Amino acid sequence: MTAPDCIFCKIIQHEIPSEIVYEDEWVTAFKDLSPAAPVHVLIVPKKHIASLTEAADEDAALLGRIQLAAAKIAARMGIQDKGFRLINNCGADAGQVVMHVHYHMLGGKTLGWSPD
Ligand code: AMP
Ligand code: ZN
Repeated sequence: MTAPDCIFCKIIQHEIPSEIVYEDEWVTAFKDLSPAAPVHVLIVPKKHIASLTEAADEDAALLGRIQLAAAKIAARMGIQDKGFRLINNCGADAGQVVMHVHYHMLGGKTLGWSPD
């Protein structure tokens, strides 16, 4: 379920410090170290899945849990009404750096739409 050298697994297990804003049975969410917006939270499954291309049919409910958690986190972060964006970077072209599936929740300002 966890990978020994994975930084997000360590955060999930509270082995290294992070600003956790939400946690349930399936999902952990914490503030991004280098925020790209006033609200920048990373939402991750507690199960180690390296990337979306590694996800299996058995992960369907888990991936759904992430989106349901996102709505709760938005309310908690005070951006439920103004809105937010949920982004998954998968693989090299998308710039995925951490190989543990994560969704960036961005909000707190009007966001541009440019995947440059
Ligand atoms: P990605 O390019 O989608 O793999 O994004 C990885 C994200 O993880 C980046 O936005 C980093 O700022 C963020 N990040 C890396 N290490 C940590 C950490 N220890 N705590 C919080 N965010 C982190
Ligand atoms: Zn991991």
